[in-house]
Amino acid sequence: FSSRELTQALLARIDRFDGDLNSFITVTAEQALATADRADADRASGNAGPLTGVPLALKDIFCTAGVKTSAGSRMLDNFISPYDATVVEKLAAAGTVSLGKTNMDEFAMGSSNENSFYGPVQNPWDSDAVPGGSSGGSAAAVAAGLVPAAMGTDTGGSIRQPAAFCGITGLKPTYGRVSRYGIIAYASSLDQAGPLARTAEDCAHLLGAIAGHDLRDSTSVARGVPDYIQELDAPLAGLRIGLPREYFGDGLDPTVASAVREAIGVFESLGATVREISLPHTHYAIPAYYVIAPAEASSNLARYDGVRFGHRCDAPEDLTDLYKRSRAEGFGEEVKRRILMGTHTLSEGFFDAYYKKAQQVRRLIRQDFLDAFDEVDVLMGPASPTPAFDLGAKKDPVSMYLQDIYTIAINLAGIPGISVPAGFAGGRPVGLQILGTHFAEARLLNVAHQFQ
Ligand code: GLN
Repeated sequence: FSSRELTQALLARIDRFDGDLNSFITVTAEQALATADRADADRASGNAGPLTGVPLALKDIFCTAGVKTSAGSRMLDNFISPYDATVVEKLAAAGTVSLGKTNMDEFAMGSSNENSFYGPVQNPWDSDAVPGGSSGGSAAAVAAGLVPAAMGTDTGGSIRQPAAFCGITGLKPTYGRVSRYGIIAYASSLDQAGPLARTAEDCAHLLGAIAGHDLRDSTSVARGVPDYIQELDAPLAGLRIGLPREYFGDGLDPTVASAVREAIGVFESLGATVREISLPHTHYAIPAYYVIAPAEASSNLARYDGVRFGHRCDAPEDLTDLYKRSRAEGFGEEVKRRILMGTHTLSEGFFDAYYKKAQQVRRLIRQDFLDAFDEVDVLMGPASPTPAFDLGAKKDPVSMYLQDIYTIAINLAGIPGISVPAGFAGGRPVGLQILGTHFAEARLLNVAHQFQ
């Protein structure tokens, strides 16, 4: 079948199911069909790669030329991006067909997609459950079969946790592996883009397309991109797996623990060896992250002032009124909370006590992982302490932050992580998280692929 036929079929599915699911903010049907036609022409003339004509969706945090790019916020509800993010450009060059922009927590702040200006997203497995966040729309769209793959970003779990909640595969690459140019910034030292798809193999194709150095992002790393597909079939005999003790302790739902342990048993049967390892600073990860990420966010979000782009209040009295009301109206509650926290910890007199201390803790957390990877090849554990929770269940922000206990340290350390489906607990999907050292994406994809 042609890419046009596939695109039409998926657009029809979006039409039929997304009214309830709410996984898309914008569907770009016309552009998609035109791109699909070009892909079909390329295929006919033998100009096709593995992704030519493959439909996908983009989290609404990727700037997309001529298309609304909202970051899930009222602040950017009227923002039509004048340019493409590097990821968007690279996916287009690979011949993929974007069907549109997916729902997300506002400015990627959240773990349930309930912080979106465009309303919550349903979990396709259970309409009472959240899809996870902040890339909840991307995960739900893939899980519901509306697209075979979607792009997300992960600052503190936002690819891996929604992938886990929706029963799909999600990869956060090493910090610097993928260009952040044109991705609306949340916390610049933590943000990284990556794929959500059904399988590790699909993620390998997508990572190969988006990875690489970019002169427009000075934190992207000038390092060759390996052939992620070629490594997928390497046997796992002799693989050394570490289980971080701290990831199996108090707070881990026993049904999640048993699903994860069962998955680890499969790796043993494939010839891997398993041993316990310690990441002693794990319990500092949430406090350190929730100092550093809001601090960077308060700085990144200072640009939304009602002057240059984004929401502007009606009839401002003067410049101060313009700033104040535009920001009061444009930002949601969680975003305001983060800006306040971040501004506080960066302010004179508090900087050393909070921000500097958090950076020191960050270094210790990173060292925990580097020490662990001297002993083992990969680490495994749950992606989240519980399966997807009910919509509206976590009203208290701290209880939401605690969701991120197994995902956040990975961003602080800058290492890659993948979540793969590992069965169900109480009818809701469970994600097994696999971690590797910096730039070990090929190994992670290989390990995940052998499991699938
Ligand atoms: N849940 C975390 C937060 O709210 C992580 C979000 C993310 O990875 N973008 O900050």
